[in-house]
Amino acid sequence: MRTRHKPWADDYLKENNQIVELDPFQHKNSWAEVFGNDNPIHIEIGTGKGQFIAGMARQHPDINFIGIELVKSIIVSAVDKVKDSGQDNVLLINEDAKDLRELFGENEVSGVYLNFSDPWPKTRHEKRRLTFHTFLEQYKGILKEDGELTLKTDNRGLFEYSLVSFSQYGMKLKEVNLDLHKEEDPLNIKTEYEEKFSEKGFPIYRCKTSFS
Ligand code: SAM
Repeated sequence: MRTRHKPWADDYLKENNQIVELDPFQHKNSWAEVFGNDNPIHIEIGTGKGQFIAGMARQHPDINFIGIELVKSIIVSAVDKVKDSGQDNVLLINEDAKDLRELFGENEVSGVYLNFSDPWPKTRHEKRRLTFHTFLEQYKGILKEDGELTLKTDNRGLFEYSLVSFSQYGMKLKEVNLDLHKEEDPLNIKTEYEEKFSEKGFPIYRCKTSFS
């Protein structure tokens, strides 16, 4: 995702600390206290500009959402989307999601979303794909028994790779959709990338999977 450098981004995130959790690692195992309720927690890795997480928070007020985005100049747009949504069931974290077990305890999370993750097509970069087995191990470490991992992408290579990776890890494939937009689904909240690629006529792939 291309973006201009925004020198004010750091201050903006600090000013919006009711939405941006500035010291998220201290909340491992106590996110329910941060939200002030025991509702299920769903996380999105690589939230981008926040259209999905803000839309999901609006659609599911009984779920708490946490969006993790590495790049400051991108996450500031997500802050604005969350603000505009007026929802209090969504928080943002500006961190590298390299080990989610530092942020969340065992069984603390009920849903993980990987939306249009960087495909890292070169074989030598396989380890960076968010569906490489080391990442699956992390998701397993934080997801509840009946928790679900949902992947959406326009990238056929990443999709096929991920299906194989899930299967090799012994995960259960609950849905494999090869053309998500073929039929209108009012429950499907589109991400910014999803809108862009589907407008160009590319099929959108989705897979829902779980560890048990
Ligand atoms: N999910 C959004 C969408 O569908 O519109 C953005 C997709 S964009 C291709 C991938 C996003 O993931 C970028 O905003 C990037 O900065 C973020 N990202 C990549 N690696 C990350 C990591 N290790 N931790 C957190 N965010 C990451």
